[in-house]
Amino acid sequence: MKLVNVADYGIKGINYYWERKSKFDLTEDELCSVGVLANNALVDEILIPKLKEANEIFKKHGYELIVKDAYRSPELYQLVKGKRYEIDGKENTDKTFNPVRMPHSSGKAVDINLVDLKTGIEIEMWDKKDWPAGAFINFYEDKTDSLSKEFQRLQDFMINTMLNLGFQLGLKNEFWHFEYEV
Ligand SMILES: [Zn+2]
Repeated sequence: MKLVNVADYGIKGINYYWERKSKFDLTEDELCSVGVLANNALVDEILIPKLKEANEIFKKHGYELIVKDAYRSPELYQLVKGKRYEIDGKENTDKTFNPVRMPHSSGKAVDINLVDLKTGIEIEMWDKKDWPAGAFINFYEDKTDSLSKEFQRLQDFMINTMLNLGFQLGLKNEFWHFEYEV
């Protein structure tokens, strides 16, 4: 695994837990101790051509890719597991967070969203009040209101684009999580 910063290749990226230090009661010192030194998305370099390709497709439709979380060290997984169990409870945490399989420790898993090219603002593809059930691929499928339909359309577009490039969904089926040969 050779980790690189997606920003060095023209792709937007953040570190989920750096960005949400206060929400998860994490200090910069704690994050540094598990290898998170800045607000960057690091991936195995083999992902870069794939992410660039995805970004080109998204741009044709008026969006841009943003990587919201990428490489996590095993030590980061364990640190975050403890914090999340405290804050959100074990049951809710285990629905999306897998501290056993640790797919993000491969450097070949990304959590992504789209940014509107015109406004520079991230697209909403779900309503956070639907957490945790709304994080999964089928949640809005059978809903008939226009907002749910738009969420489903955007998720389908993002998911189909990624799957066509050889990515797979994770075992938990969150609509934003994609893995490449993990
Ligand atoms: Zn993920």
